[in-house]
Amino acid sequence: MSPSVPREIRYLVRERAQNRCEYCRMAQAIQGATFHVEHIVPQRKGGKTVPENLALACPSCNFHKSDHTKSEDPETGQVVPLFRPRRDEWEEHFRFEGLKIVGVTSEGRATVRLLNFNSERRLLIRSIEQSLWE
Ligand SMILES: [Zn+2]
Repeated sequence: MSPSVPREIRYLVRERAQNRCEYCRMAQAIQGATFHVEHIVPQRKGGKTVPENLALACPSCNFHKSDHTKSEDPETGQVVPLFRPRRDEWEEHFRFEGLKIVGVTSEGRATVRLLNFNSERRLLIRSIEQSLWE
């Protein structure tokens, strides 16, 4: 969790992510909440507090991800690793379909489901964000 992450590392993670959630791509400015610097591999599972193991996550993604590193792909029922922001390319695992984020790989589908990417509240925030770009 954030308090254990030194301030200069938190700053680096925020800048690197351009103030967007590295899972659901939500912009911090629109969400109106402070995003969390989260451990991709949780500290409880041996994950270190180094930039390579940290990602910026909105409160909702951070909450749903919790200490998970794997989850079930709803299409195959297999347990697969979750999307890892430092190692994986977002575009290889997800795409937008309108306001929804769809997983295009096992890893992507498991992440969409576990992190609840398409909750009503998130769809609403995305619709507001899109309307600002138009
Ligand atoms: Zn998010």
